[in-house]
Amino acid sequence: MRKNIVAGNWKMNKTLQEGVALATELNEILASKKVNCDVIIGTPFIHLASVCASVDSAKLGVAAENCADHVSGAYTGEVSAAMVKSTGAQYVILGHSERRAYYGETPAILKTKVELALANGLTPIFCIGEVLAEREANKQFEVVEAQIKESLFDLSVEDFSKIILAYEPVWAIGTGKTATAAQAQEIHAYIRSVLAAKYGKKVADNCSILYGGSCKASNAGELFANPDVDGGLIGGAALNAKDFMGIVDAF
Ligand code: PEP
Repeated sequence: MRKNIVAGNWKMNKTLQEGVALATELNEILASKKVNCDVIIGTPFIHLASVCASVDSAKLGVAAENCADHVSGAYTGEVSAAMVKSTGAQYVILGHSERRAYYGETPAILKTKVELALANGLTPIFCIGEVLAEREANKQFEVVEAQIKESLFDLSVEDFSKIILAYEPVWAIGTGKTATAAQAQEIHAYIRSVLAAKYGKKVADNCSILYGGSCKASNAGELFANPDVDGGLIGGAALNAKDFMGIVDAF
């Protein structure tokens, strides 16, 4: 059956020293208690190697927040999937709404990134979600369906089975507005039906679909109690151990 997962996305926060300190703190907490979900932290590129060297990867997974859409070569400032993998990271967050909105990441670019991540043994945490105007026009279902189809539906069953999805309504990210538990369940169930139509019920049932958008300890329990919500992708509340572990403990 699918895994429950709580994944942090630090975004462009924390110096290297601050990041290693937080990862070390989380690692110590996780070494001393049993939790009921997989726990992952997504860190800036420059933190990855040091963070990976500081944590027990069996208890705390590490994700990059992006990777390049090229294998290697003259792409100044970019970081390839192979480079991410070489740090010890196991995951990569792809398609975050901030990457789509501020860095022009199209479904076609994201398709390439997903393929390169998989080819290099990384597990993509692939983000989808509608903006406020689309929600207000009741277009959220068609928006997320298109995002999934355009970037993921050329994958083989075997490769698709490695994907973690994160539904993140853009209007809820960093805004303090959270989708209600009912809204989250409704669209997660829809997403699973889209996966089932393409890859079959078993693959759909095994796919972890995380919710993201102002998730915190106080609302995580209600969100995670839904049958199709398999955890969270956490921004602001992932930046300190107490808040983040409060969400992990919701499972
Ligand atoms: C995110 O950026 O993935 C996110 C969910 O952010 P926040 O939790 O701060 O809304």
